[in-house]
Amino acid sequence: MIFAANLKCNHTRSSFQSYAEEINSFKNTEDEIFIFPSSTSFLMQKLNFYQGAQNFYPCINGAYTGEIGQEHLEEFNIKSVLIGHSERRVLGENEKFLKTKFDFAKNLSYNIIYCIGESLEIKQEKKSLDFLKKQIENIDLDYEKLIIAYEPIYSIGTGVSASIEDIKEKLNFLSQFSKCKFLYGGSVNQDNIKDICSLQNCHGVLIGTAALQADKFLKLIQIAKG
Ligand code: PEP
Repeated sequence: MIFAANLKCNHTRSSFQSYAEEINSFKNTEDEIFIFPSSTSFLMQKLNFYQGAQNFYPCINGAYTGEIGQEHLEEFNIKSVLIGHSERRVLGENEKFLKTKFDFAKNLSYNIIYCIGESLEIKQEKKSLDFLKKQIENIDLDYEKLIIAYEPIYSIGTGVSASIEDIKEKLNFLSQFSKCKFLYGGSVNQDNIKDICSLQNCHGVLIGTAALQADKFLKLIQIAKG
């Protein structure tokens, strides 16, 4: 399974160092673990998980004030990126820019966790499936290092995850269009992770709040695996 932790704007380099050491001491060769720290916390040491970037600018380097490019990721051997997270979309990353980021990362053969998800309003209007279909039309669904994370906006950081039926319906729907792996993200916790990970078209989870501490993240992995 895939277990991904999005640490968002949390942890300093020093606290992420301790976090990484705890994950490193966990021996697990069956699963893929991705951790996305803030970019000032990237570590150079050997890690037994994929260290990924929450954000990057689609450039090697150059006159892009405040951004980080490929050169900066490569220095930390980072070859995994999150693209399309709703917390970046809300800051203005539109479909055109997300496609540019996707194509850039694809050309570098990076692992891409591409996040999609509808708002509560769209869900209530019963337009979720059309909305999700449009979101995935923006990217190459045959890219072999693509992982799609279905993260309904109303469940991110709210403590209220989507229902199992909703997750099942969306992942079944999405899996018609790509052979890639699918994750669910949105208020995953110790009580729901096992049921979510047991769904047929769910290959893992993307976790924010509940993975902010390494021991809690490891506990979630243990619960998911029974
Ligand atoms: C996320 O940020 O991708 C996320 C799923 O957050 P949370 O687990 O806190 O809902």
